[in-house]
Amino acid sequence: MSKRSLEKEENSNRPAKEPKKHWSLGLVESMKDPKLIYKETKNIIVIKDKYPKAKIHYLVLPREEISSIFKLNKSHLDLLEEFGSVFNTIKEEHDCELRAGFHAVPSMHRLHMHVISTDMNSPCLKTKIHWNSFTTSFFILYEDLINNLTKDGCIEKMSNETHKSLMSTPLKCNQCSFEPKNMPQLKQHLLIHIK
Ligand code: AMP
Ligand code: ZN
Repeated sequence: MSKRSLEKEENSNRPAKEPKKHWSLGLVESMKDPKLIYKETKNIIVIKDKYPKAKIHYLVLPREEISSIFKLNKSHLDLLEEFGSVFNTIKEEHDCELRAGFHAVPSMHRLHMHVISTDMNSPCLKTKIHWNSFTTSFFILYEDLINNLTKDGCIEKMSNETHKSLMSTPLKCNQCSFEPKNMPQLKQHLLIHIK
């Protein structure tokens, strides 16, 4: 076979190039990446956040295709109970303070619970929006999500006004009463809390 036709054959055997997936599907892709997987159970996959906003930052996701917190109903309480067990196991494996919760307006597809350490000391934490998304009520704590779902049977969408006002909340340290003027000052300040 000539070199030319050999190349032709190799090309025809090569799988067609997959179309580029939308960025919001990135978590679903990362769930298949062994380098990012931290833990797996029958129903759940825990991955490392690709742009961690603290020293420890994991995402807990269901294998089941549940697009977001807004698709949850009371039938999902058992699954969410498993999220809680996984969170307890992760806490046992680390000797720092960890919080678990969901963003009130998630940007990425597939339900995901953040498990994040309180140091918030990470180069990926850059903006006021990053900060306020983990330190204001925009971060729905795991227990609060369970309570709301048990009470209302669903998770209510946050209004645009509330969303905007939470994102523009003045900066405040999450570990003391210090009110920094800007992000560089906050990031510098956070270092004093590191043991
Ligand atoms: P949110 O949808 O706002 O609750 O947060 C999405 C989280 O996913 C952020 O903390 C991002 O750093 C993280 N992230 C974005 N893309 C990826 C990816 N491809 N793999 C893993 N984590 C990601
Ligand atoms: Zn402080």
